[in-house]
Amino acid sequence: MPIFEYQCNDCDRCFEFLVLGNEGPKKCPECAGDKIEKLMSACGFFSKGGSGETLKASASTSGCSGCSATSCSSCGH
Ligand SMILES: [Zn+2]
Repeated sequence: MPIFEYQCNDCDRCFEFLVLGNEGPKKCPECAGDKIEKLMSACGFFSKGGSGETLKASASTSGCSGCSATSCSSCGH
């Protein structure tokens, strides 16, 4: 089963989502926001109990973690 990492740009919550077919998450499970960004690299800090602050801060220096994708909606890279 393909499980992808997503991050909500509203509350910075990082979460895993089991993708069935081509359907990704429509809403953030935390705040129900729809600014969902697919992450290309696993955000292991979340499963370790951390918040999204660390990844958000470090990734902002050179684009976000989704920049390896063809289109990154979060930072435009
Ligand atoms: Zn959210």
